[in-house]
Amino acid sequence: MIDLFDDTYAATRDAADPLRDLRSEFLIPRHDGEPMAYFVGNSLGLQPRGARAYVEEVLRKWEEEGVEGHFTGDAQWMTYHDLVREPLARLVGAEPLEVVAMNTLTVNLHLLMASFYRPTAERPVLLIEAGAFPSDRHAAWSQVRFHGFDPRTDLVEVAPDAPDGTISMDAIARAIVAHRDRLALVLWPGVQYRTGQAFDLAEIARLARDAGAACGFDLAHAVGNVDLSLHDSGADFAVWCHYKYVNAGPGAVAGAFVHARHSRADLPRLAGWWGHDPSSRFRMEPEFVPAPGADGWQLSNPPILAMAPLRASLALFERAGMPALRAKSCSLTGYLEQLIDARLRGMLDVLTPRDPVQRGCQLSLRVHGGRDRGRSLFEFLAARGVLGDWREPDVIRISPTPLYNRHADVLRFARAVEAWSTAA
Ligand SMILES: *Cc1c(COP(=O)(O)O)cnc(C)c1O
Repeated sequence: MIDLFDDTYAATRDAADPLRDLRSEFLIPRHDGEPMAYFVGNSLGLQPRGARAYVEEVLRKWEEEGVEGHFTGDAQWMTYHDLVREPLARLVGAEPLEVVAMNTLTVNLHLLMASFYRPTAERPVLLIEAGAFPSDRHAAWSQVRFHGFDPRTDLVEVAPDAPDGTISMDAIARAIVAHRDRLALVLWPGVQYRTGQAFDLAEIARLARDAGAACGFDLAHAVGNVDLSLHDSGADFAVWCHYKYVNAGPGAVAGAFVHARHSRADLPRLAGWWGHDPSSRFRMEPEFVPAPGADGWQLSNPPILAMAPLRASLALFERAGMPALRAKSCSLTGYLEQLIDARLRGMLDVLTPRDPVQRGCQLSLRVHGGRDRGRSLFEFLAARGVLGDWREPDVIRISPTPLYNRHADVLRFARAVEAWSTAA
């Protein structure tokens, strides 16, 4: 009989992992001299070794060329965002024209709602999930008010309909149908940050379209985590950040998607000079002519230093490919689930859906016995270099990421939980 808790078992699975070499491309933080078991790639992904060289390249170019750095060489700053376009498009399942790296997530959310949330007296409703990430809720709430409508009636929040806090497709469909005559925009997450639930985005976009509404996605917890087919989903827009699973560093430049059917439409938008068609931008004429595609939503010339690490990180996604990453992710998270089911059920409940199709790599674990017990476990783990993250009042999120986590890390977590239960 296989002993899941045996070191040899985890080591054998790691040895058979076709992506095992990628771990050495990352700088793993240490605790008491040993690499951490780092399960917070859903919060801040680790630094790719290659990031430093890309940042230093920008510093050196600036040092040696000053303003000329905008116009010289393959990595010239004028077109720097083009360097990440194709890998980014592959990562989210889009056409190159549909994606752009710019700003930060919440900024992009507002910019794209300016174009795709166009409420009228007949159709003022913005539909989101209850328990959305606060920044998304603030953005949605303030947009409703900004347009002169009342969030108490026109910001509709779909409540979880399962005891674990997840939301069924039926509940989403019922809410969209119930509001169909007044619905302006459906804004939905790809993966819910608290529960780790992944949604069927194509189905949500279809329901929104059938109701005559626009549809946008927040992919903060989905990009670099689950397979995405944004173009085929038919969504109008999507936004995401690059500092979580994409490992591009704290406050990294974010991403945005605008579907190709809007690429040449002169939609209302909040414009800036970097969104102007680059072929005539430097004629410096007063009239705004949008660049085709997602580029037309750019405002400013981008922060090149902040964009540089994204090149290193996307190169690793290119090397691995999402299908292989996703397969390893299912293996790691499945192993975590098996270990919990085998011996930790008396301490932890898995809130994340059991079906791998309905989750990414994260498992959200409710600790039995309330907040104090939960904090006690969380701190016990952290003191042993096992880093998850804490969500009030009693949830620990553990996200084994396929680029740098191993089955051995997952086993280390499970062992530490056992050690805590016998110590406590
Ligand atoms: C991480 C995250 C954010 C963070 O927003 P920033 O603008 O990058 O600070 C917003 N929304 C969701 C759903 C997130 O997971």
